[in-house]
Amino acid sequence: MSERFDVVVAGAGTAGAYAAYLLAKAGFRVALLESKSGDQIGVKTCGDGLGLHHVERMSKNLTPNPKVFQNKIEGVELFSPDERTRLVVRGEGYVLDRFAWGKWLVEEAVRAGASLFEGYTATGPIVENGAVVGVKAVDRKTGSAKEFLAKVVADATGSAAVVRTKLAGWLISEPLHPEDVSHAYREIVYVEEPVENPQYIKIYLDQTVSPGGYWWIFPRSATMLNVGLGIWGILKQNPRTSYEKAILPRFKVRGKYHIGGGFIPTRRPLKSLVGNGIVALGDAAAAVNPIHGGGIGQALLTAELSSRVIAKAFERGDFSESALWEYNVLYMREWGYRQAQLDVLRLMLQTLDNDDLNFGLSRRILTEDEIYHLAAKGTNLSLLDKFRVMMQFLGRPALLKKLSTSIQYAKEIGDLYLAYPESREGLERWYAEVVKKYNEFREKIGLGPLPTA
Ligand SMILES: Cc1cc2nc3c(=O)[nH]c(=O)nc-3n(C[C@H](O)[C@H](O)[C@H](O)COP(=O)(O)OP(=O)(O)OC[C@H]3O[C@@H](n4cnc5c(N)ncnc54)[C@H](O)[C@@H]3O)c2cc1C
Repeated sequence: MSERFDVVVAGAGTAGAYAAYLLAKAGFRVALLESKSGDQIGVKTCGDGLGLHHVERMSKNLTPNPKVFQNKIEGVELFSPDERTRLVVRGEGYVLDRFAWGKWLVEEAVRAGASLFEGYTATGPIVENGAVVGVKAVDRKTGSAKEFLAKVVADATGSAAVVRTKLAGWLISEPLHPEDVSHAYREIVYVEEPVENPQYIKIYLDQTVSPGGYWWIFPRSATMLNVGLGIWGILKQNPRTSYEKAILPRFKVRGKYHIGGGFIPTRRPLKSLVGNGIVALGDAAAAVNPIHGGGIGQALLTAELSSRVIAKAFERGDFSESALWEYNVLYMREWGYRQAQLDVLRLMLQTLDNDDLNFGLSRRILTEDEIYHLAAKGTNLSLLDKFRVMMQFLGRPALLKKLSTSIQYAKEIGDLYLAYPESREGLERWYAEVVKKYNEFREKIGLGPLPTA
């Protein structure tokens, strides 16, 4: 059985539901496929933190229902491994009621005219004459197969990226290496003792509890907490084991609301987010902030940018890779270059030990404002200058050299991503430059060459 649409969106998480909303609102016939059904729609294992700037940007198209916001956040408390240093970084945002958020977004997509196929699992792309022309899916209730045909397919199936990764040999099928993911686990718990400063999310750096990542407390209220951790994928450690051993005993838990884990792509941008008849969004496009693993905002951003380019493709009647390439360019200029900058810093941070982190945080090598700027927006040159000066009087030249080298390469690699080619023709030459620069940097901080997945 088959059915035809203008656009098929596989996956009704934040990216897919928002893209379906925007495209349906623009008048396209949209099928929104979601594996989950009934009460499960909207359920997502997540830290649920979202910066205010993402909400403000979204509100230009769709104003969030206030019920999706569980707690208003004023900033971040960042703790050193020995917990002797606490930096308070400003930055407004929310802890979402993630279930309400996910459900609300899907409802808005449907209200705008998208057809929701709940309980349908996309199993792979349909390819004809070198172009994606639809998605194969299975109805989980009946087990029957169905083909969803369209001019453009959006892969929004999250980090599994089940559509794009099945296009073997295509540029867009680039797989994720274990070095480029974080394994995360979190619980939403009710606790006996109220957490201090519930208007602040708390991030704990500790390379023994959460190596290559961090552990967190994101308060939904003073006594209802989203607590979890992420561990660098290459270490192949189970985050739940670490959670139960080192984090859970810190709380008097009187109940659990939801538990779960998942993996998060924490890397530089994919080489390309498009192919003939296909775009990738959100986690399926590895669009996450590599430093802190936040990807809800980028799921919204990729939905917005890709739907703009898809609408143009319909105007021209051209759905080829070159017609959709503009999405790559918009993405790299808007966020991809900052993602690459942050990826460089992420790699450097993953090589530091607790001693380095205690030292760096206690000396306030970066101020609270600079940390906010780095984590949210990427680097700038004034930071570089500061590092040069500081190197002259701080007692750890090797650490400071590593930091200043990383800032310098973050800038250079970010600039390369800003110069992302306008068409596929320039891509291989451009990417060779990226690999060269990354490998130079990696050698300087003691990592081997960029792994091939
Ligand atoms: C433990 C953890 C904590 C996190 N904390 C934060 C945080 O605090 N802040 C933040 O911004 N980000 C956080 N993230 C990342 C964030 O959750 C993701 O970046 C974001 O949800 C990505 O949205 P998405 O729509 O791309 O993917 P998803 O939200 O994963 O949505 C994908 C959807 O596709 C569906 N699907 C999957 N396969 C198929 C298929 N074959 N067919 C049909 N449907 C399918 C899924 O059921 C799902 O509904 C966290 C992630 C984890 C795992």
